[in-house]
Amino acid sequence: MPRRYPANWQSEIVPAILARAHFCCEGSFAHPACRAAQHLPRPLSDPGWSPHEPVVHLTVVALDGVPMHTDPANLKALCPRCRTSTEAQRRAEMRRGRQPRARQLCLF
Ligand SMILES: [Zn+2]
Repeated sequence: MPRRYPANWQSEIVPAILARAHFCCEGSFAHPACRAAQHLPRPLSDPGWSPHEPVVHLTVVALDGVPMHTDPANLKALCPRCRTSTEAQRRAEMRRGRQPRARQLCLF
């Protein structure tokens, strides 16, 4: 079974992307101005947050859905809300045929 993430994902890639983002969410299509900060309370005035997330936990997401594609332009630090909207957008684009499926190499 192929490894889903590169061996240095947690040790090097995630810390580098979080540092690039200054430990704040880099925003999504649905919430482009989101700058939710790592481990701080979620912004209560902002709709769309899960009540089960008392503080923000940023994750690094591969925009094309393939974590093995570690080009920094393909990786983004996102809060749970932006991750959800980004993944929903990617799935919708895949259904419309605008983006290659995950794990499919784009040559052009
Ligand atoms: Zn966000």
